[in-house]
Amino acid sequence: MLYAKVVVGLPVEGPFDYIVPADLISRIKIGVRAWVPFRTKSIIGYVVGITSTTKIKNLKKILEVIDEQPVLNKSMLRLSKELAEYYCCSWGEAIETALPEGLRKGKKIVSINVNTHSDKKDNPDVILVQDLDGKERWNIYLREIKDTLNKNKSTIVLLPDLNSVLKAQDKITPSINTPTSILYRKQPKELEEWIKVREGKANIVIGMRSAIFSPVNNLGLVIMDEEQDSVYKQDQVPHYHAREVAFMRTNIEKAKLILGATSCSLESLQLVKANRIKYDFVARNRDFPEIKLVDVKSEQRSRKKRHIILSKYLQGSIYDTLNSSGKVLLFINRRGFATFASCRNCALVLKCPRCNINLVYHFKDNILNCHYCNFKMEAPSICPNCNSNYIRYTGAGIETVESELSRIFPKSRINTIDSKKHLNTKDADIFVATSVITKEEGLNFDLIGIIGIDNSLNRIDFRSSEKTFALLSSLLRLTEKKIIIQSSLPNHICFQALVKKDLSLFYEEELRIRKQLNFPPFKHIILIKLRGRQEEKVKQASQDLFKKLNTVHKLKVFRTVSLNPALPSKLRSKFYWQLLLVSSNVKKACKSLKIYLKDFSHSGIIVTVDVDPL
Ligand SMILES: [Zn+2]
Ligand SMILES: [Zn+2]
Repeated sequence: MLYAKVVVGLPVEGPFDYIVPADLISRIKIGVRAWVPFRTKSIIGYVVGITSTTKIKNLKKILEVIDEQPVLNKSMLRLSKELAEYYCCSWGEAIETALPEGLRKGKKIVSINVNTHSDKKDNPDVILVQDLDGKERWNIYLREIKDTLNKNKSTIVLLPDLNSVLKAQDKITPSINTPTSILYRKQPKELEEWIKVREGKANIVIGMRSAIFSPVNNLGLVIMDEEQDSVYKQDQVPHYHAREVAFMRTNIEKAKLILGATSCSLESLQLVKANRIKYDFVARNRDFPEIKLVDVKSEQRSRKKRHIILSKYLQGSIYDTLNSSGKVLLFINRRGFATFASCRNCALVLKCPRCNINLVYHFKDNILNCHYCNFKMEAPSICPNCNSNYIRYTGAGIETVESELSRIFPKSRINTIDSKKHLNTKDADIFVATSVITKEEGLNFDLIGIIGIDNSLNRIDFRSSEKTFALLSSLLRLTEKKIIIQSSLPNHICFQALVKKDLSLFYEEELRIRKQLNFPPFKHIILIKLRGRQEEKVKQASQDLFKKLNTVHKLKVFRTVSLNPALPSKLRSKFYWQLLLVSSNVKKACKSLKIYLKDFSHSGIIVTVDVDPL
């Protein structure tokens, strides 16, 4: 008798043993998909092993083998297994996150012609390239891609968004003489592209996060541009980070890994400091802009105003720049510039009915909008609580800045750039933009004014300084003349490192603080989230789990740190609580967590685990 070991894309561990019926024996292979009965349904399973013995009685039979050739090769099986161990999900869930939708849904593919040539692999090699302008970085990438092609090996290039993927293809294609493939989730012909790559018809894959799972043959190089970007982290289970998976995969397949960034993640920098990866800093060959700090607090005091959008100094500099026909960019940190609706009579702040979040006012459409669940309502003129007509819209939105600018500089052409509008740099004198502008290339401003950056620093997030610094560094590329930063924290190391033109000052200080607090990158954080429709039940379940984990943490594979309602505590009509654990060994911690979570069941409560949350 032959048995198949099968995993499924559900939060259950496995592998589960199934009988291979006689007529399927010739077709069963490790790495193929098969229809299997599971609980009361038939679902897709992935064969991860074949054996002639089993200890389990009353086994069910495999219903059908879907594939002629395995869709998962040895290294992909090993990678997905490692991913499951690290990110505390099941092996089947990890496999499904690595496959295109068509395959997850059971679509048949005609015999894959896998073109495998195995040869001796080089030593693994990881290098972090930091380049403020991004140009030299690309020369390095192109050189390495050519090298890899010359060795008859494949390359995967990862970028944070589709726009960058398309631009990368334009940069890579002219300099090489081989077909490339673009891979990302939800693209129209995802499965067709996947098969093309699998058959060895494209040696270079360019894509977003999920492209790290591309079925390339003979992987020689992975390039991950803007490695610090948080979009590389998947926001659903499994919460993997493409950088971590890139480390796993290049290690398994003995390929080279290049991480590129304008402002590196502290995770990568710490690996450099520990001599575990190499580092290449590309010096800027243009002038470093002059950085001026404006202390908004002291100006608020002297001008006796509660809010200042444009400081006198910034106004003066804009005036001077416009007078010499220069171009100005006002950078707005959108998060800090939302406008809220509140009642001056009863102090009610209008919140999303589904989420515990303030609604944001959109002036042009006169609506209130929830930025989490996209709930929309017409902005009321009467307070729903006290029926007074004292509803006021406070805070400065991007539109408020625009109207303030046109009041002070009535003759200037102003262009507001947010994600929807097409960028056109020729038709304005002053640009008002959010972070979308940092992804643009070939822009050069004579003056950049940065407003609202304090809200980014003041967020309740231990990474807030790192994120703010990355944002500021990405703006350096857009000017070689002058940057004015308005802040009430002018002495913050984020700003001082820029004023002193020495980025390492920030990294050193931030790493020192993280080490002192036992935070990443020195320890791993594991976030356990519980959600459900009844607030009291979620709270009770969270407390139970916390107590339980507290009694077992004597094993010292993790330490429980805190138990709180999540932020936001209510989202899309569900209540959230979270437990925070700290660990120095993620795989061990996840192994024991899986055991405790398996026995933990509260009806109506869903538990998810996020390892290394961002
Ligand atoms: Zn009211
Ligand atoms: Zn909402």
